[in-house]
Amino acid sequence: MKRALISDIHSNIEALQAVLADIRKQGATEVFCLGDVVGYGPNPRECIDEVMKANVCLLGNHDQGALFDPEGFNTGAERAIFWTRSQLENYAPGAPDGVSRWEFLGERPRSHKDGDCIYVHGSARNPLNEYVFPEDIYNRRKMEKIFALIDRCAFQGHTHVPGVFTEDFQFYSPEELNYEFVLGSEKVMINVGSVGQPRDGDPRACYAILHDGRVTFHRVEYPFEETIAKIYPIPELDNFLGDRLRDGR
Ligand code: ZN
Repeated sequence: MKRALISDIHSNIEALQAVLADIRKQGATEVFCLGDVVGYGPNPRECIDEVMKANVCLLGNHDQGALFDPEGFNTGAERAIFWTRSQLENYAPGAPDGVSRWEFLGERPRSHKDGDCIYVHGSARNPLNEYVFPEDIYNRRKMEKIFALIDRCAFQGHTHVPGVFTEDFQFYSPEELNYEFVLGSEKVMINVGSVGQPRDGDPRACYAILHDGRVTFHRVEYPFEETIAKIYPIPELDNFLGDRLRDGR
């Protein structure tokens, strides 16, 4: 079984399509999505339609923001969430496909367990909202508390920064690992990065594959200028949301 792990698509259909094509090329037979299908980008409907085919799809904080009242977002993100909601609401009211997207989002679980691995959007402690950033390795109390809730491995997203956290307070970027990490007996948290809005300085879409106890990180080029050209004319989506795709920040 080869399982692809994708997260933080953020309504970027160009990035998602490029990643799904790469997943097929790699021969992965399962897709797990760790949340934030929508928010920030111009194609929420199209992205939801794609992830409906995934084996597992978790709720992210932006998905929850679109469903309910957004809380704790900055102004740009909040405006994007309200615009996202209007896109989901205004699409052929009463049509079965419009309704099924809402229902799909509303039914997303916050976590998924498979043996000694847990899948979440944020962290094992707070599946929806907690960030685990690389610099959190210096916050030992936080890391110890989260690791105490993990049997062996946690796969997560939310920060848009891919890499591996080990229980001895280290963080390894995919480059430092040569894009491959072998799961052992030690506890780890693995951030699979972001498909639709990478923030680690590399504009390419990011995802991971889990296969035979090995995690590999993959970067995929996609035509981000197409995404940016759709974001600019939409007043509710700040131009910055397009600009950042070019720089991967
Ligand atoms: Zn996100």
